[in-house]
Formats: sequence, C-alpha cells, structure tokens
Amino acid sequence: MPPKPRQGLADPAMLNGRQLRRKFIEFNALYFSNKLPPYAIRVVRKINWLDFMGRHDRQRRRIEVRQGLADKEAVGALIHEMAHARTTDHHGMPWKREMIRLRKAGAPLTEQDMGISLDDWDGIRVTKQMFQRRVDNILCAPSSLNLTLSNVIEDFIRNYGGAITVAEFKRKHPWVGAVLRDAKKEFAEYLKLQAELEVKLAGGG
Ligand SMILES: [Zn+2]
Repeated sequence: MPPKPRQGLADPAMLNGRQLRRKFIEFNALYFSNKLPPYAIRVVRKINWLDFMGRHDRQRRRIEVRQGLADKEAVGALIHEMAHARTTDHHGMPWKREMIRLRKAGAPLTEQDMGISLDDWDGIRVTKQMFQRRVDNILCAPSSLNLTLSNVIEDFIRNYGGAITVAEFKRKHPWVGAVLRDAKKEFAEYLKLQAELEVKLAGGG
C-alpha cells in the first residue's frame, strides 16, 4: 500500500496546542479586535480535581485546555478562557456579559456556555444558600468526603467569585466551615443508609 499522505499531526482527530494557538490568534482578530495580549496555549492532561475543561492564568499569560476533548469542546473551552482574559477570573457579571456578546457575534461556545444568561449574580455577594447549593453539588461520590474546605472554596471562587483568595473568602464568609461540615455529615449519613439498604436488598430480596 502506498503511504498515506502525512497529516503532520500526532492525532488528527484532536486539536493540538499549536492548532489551538492558531485558533487563539484567529478568534482574537474575529471577536476581540486583537485586544487580547499574546497567550501561550497548552494542551494539558489534567486541569484539577473537578475536571475543568480549561484554565486561564493571567499572570503567566497562559491558557490551558484539557487533553482529549472533542474539537468543538476544545474550541469552546478556549473561547471561555479568552473571555476570562478579557474580563475577570470568575463567572460574575462582566464575564457573563462578555460571553453573551461573544454568542451574539457567532463565537463557537460550548453547549453549556450557550445557555449563559444575565441573572442578578454579580460575582461579589455570596449567600449561605448559594454556597450550600454548590457544596451539595460537589458532594456526589464517597471520595468527595475527602475534599478540604480550601478545595471547595477554590472551586467556588473559580465558578462564582466572591473573593480573590481562599483566605479572603474565609474572612468574608466565616460560616463556610460550618456549611461544609454539616453537608459532609449529612452526605455520610446518606451513604451509610444507602449501604445498609443495599445489604438488605441483596440479603432478603
Ligand atoms: Zn471559567
């Protein structure tokens, strides 16, 4: 068989770092009037324990996109991080407004990001209820009982804002420790009940 034409790619099914960098340059011109400074674009194996698709590092001028994403998702993750680069590091109003602008301009957002709307969350006010809801969402597997308060606060800041650092967040919202403690206790009891029920079902039928 004649050799196949060279693709010049390790895995032609997925965009690599260099191709995503080209996309960055293209999108910067198309959707940002070239206002974003140059960024290094890297495809990385893992972003964090919550399996984020991308990360933006303003100081090091670096955007990371998780390896193994379908092209559409990788491109959507890149745009998501570019919107952070243009606005703030969390998902408050300025970022949402930017995402809606990008959607209207026809930027290829991920399916999830297509649904972003301007609700009243401004990325500053944090209510106990909001934090509680996020904690309940995170506690979904037995291993999540090992998460520390800092883990959970980091996740919250990334997604909603509320402060810049974990220490500052704790200072501003002194009730966070108690919320996590109560939620973990409740979840542990739930797991215990579930296990007991499974034993019963397996034994008695
Ligand atoms: Zn984000």
